[in-house]
Amino acid sequence: MGKADTSDSNLKTCPYVAKCGACHIGEKSYAEELAQKKELVVAHIGKYCGKINDVAGMYYPYHYRNKVHAVFGRIKDEVVAGTYAEGTHTIIPVSDCLIEDTQASAIIRTVTELIQSFKLWVYNEDTGRGLMRHILVRKGSSTKQIMVVLVTAALEFPHKNNFVAELRRRHPEITTIVQNINDNQTTMVLGDREKTLFGQGYIEDVLLGLRFRISPSSFYQVNTAQTQVLYKKAIQAAGLTGKERVIDAYCGIGTIGMCMSSKAGHVTGIELNAQAVKDAKANAKRNGINNIRFIAADATEYMTHMSQNGERADVIIMDPPRSGSTEAFVKSAVSLKPSRIVYVSCNPETLGRDLAWFAREGYRAQEAWPVDMFGFTGHVESIVLLSKLHTKQNIEVELEMSEMDLTAAESKATYEEIKDYVLKHIGLKVSSLYIAQVKEKCGIIERVNYNQPKSENSRQPKCPPEKEVVIREALKHFRMI
Ligand code: SAH
Repeated sequence: MGKADTSDSNLKTCPYVAKCGACHIGEKSYAEELAQKKELVVAHIGKYCGKINDVAGMYYPYHYRNKVHAVFGRIKDEVVAGTYAEGTHTIIPVSDCLIEDTQASAIIRTVTELIQSFKLWVYNEDTGRGLMRHILVRKGSSTKQIMVVLVTAALEFPHKNNFVAELRRRHPEITTIVQNINDNQTTMVLGDREKTLFGQGYIEDVLLGLRFRISPSSFYQVNTAQTQVLYKKAIQAAGLTGKERVIDAYCGIGTIGMCMSSKAGHVTGIELNAQAVKDAKANAKRNGINNIRFIAADATEYMTHMSQNGERADVIIMDPPRSGSTEAFVKSAVSLKPSRIVYVSCNPETLGRDLAWFAREGYRAQEAWPVDMFGFTGHVESIVLLSKLHTKQNIEVELEMSEMDLTAAESKATYEEIKDYVLKHIGLKVSSLYIAQVKEKCGIIERVNYNQPKSENSRQPKCPPEKEVVIREALKHFRMI
């Protein structure tokens, strides 16, 4: 995981920051921001999740956005591109944004100039009249392919060929230009119709050695470097051995599922956006992946259908949008009896709500790994590993985790050494669970949620008083209390 470069974080400031509101660059150092993001995650999910790791920060937290959007407007006689001031149709012109890709920003400046020189009519949100609405630039960080999407209010685009030729002349790095037609009076950027004006109509990018096609409307993570950090962690959390039936719910263009397919038996991707599913199928083909299929469906509906058919899954990956998942999804997911669920979330608030639903169904969050994908904004991504814990498993997990998570005080004697001592000196056998319970009573460790009983009347065994006495003896012997 990259070590965050926080050395010059305080030096960069942006003239638009107060009005634009998209980020809070210059307000605090990147290191402070990462600490606050961890607090945010803890505040929302701490109750349900025992161990929350530090936020994995970016190596260089600037110009990371591979997708840049701007809205066109007019200030007096000048065409401008920028962002709406919150809750208004007043445009704040923005150029040289510190978190956006620099090539994308330069292209947006050129398109703005071309709209002016070609005398194209800028769309007015209030009257619903005019042509040029938005621009979206997407870049494949690894391939350097660049897609420009010009969103217009009508199909007819005066001087289209000359406009495209001039844009390509000034930016030969552009690999495709698409016109998207959005004649709805909505806040949605993209409409349903598209026309490729130059190139293939999509770009490609490489993630963890696989090549992905990305269409204008398909979701693709905006920070490529951190996406690889995120996916590696998700793959690790999935604990695959090569045989598992994996579900990749809310799969987008299939990136997570494909990145783990070589370690799984079979993967099923579920995604609502039909264009993204098309990309996903093409992506499987271009990467020669045969053990994956994609279903274009609402994730809740499809999971309910699987549950009603009595189907099973070994691992479920879920990566819903900011609004989170649904209670029906959670219930169906649990009924497929997965041994692990890896929840990837971009919103700690809905994540907390959904973890509560999972807890009610007996699935507990063991560990969370927040990853910073959106430096200098209030957003943070997290991966959470959930599993169903029976009483017996509680003890096994405890053994494993307790041995791994030795604190300074604990490091004086391992569980095995304590057991040996008790057996040799007092002739009694004690379990790791009992040792952990006594350690907790003595304030040496704080047992985290995953190895605590789920409720007061849980069948998790409690250390009997006579064994507690001997364990305390051992802890004294090892100078741990
Ligand atoms: N896992 C992917 C995409 C995550 S973004 C990646 O890492 O790139 C969330 C995805 O959920 C988007 O592609 C969105 O189109 C999709 N989505 C939103 N609502 C959905 C629903 N109800 N059912 C299935 N997919 C949905």
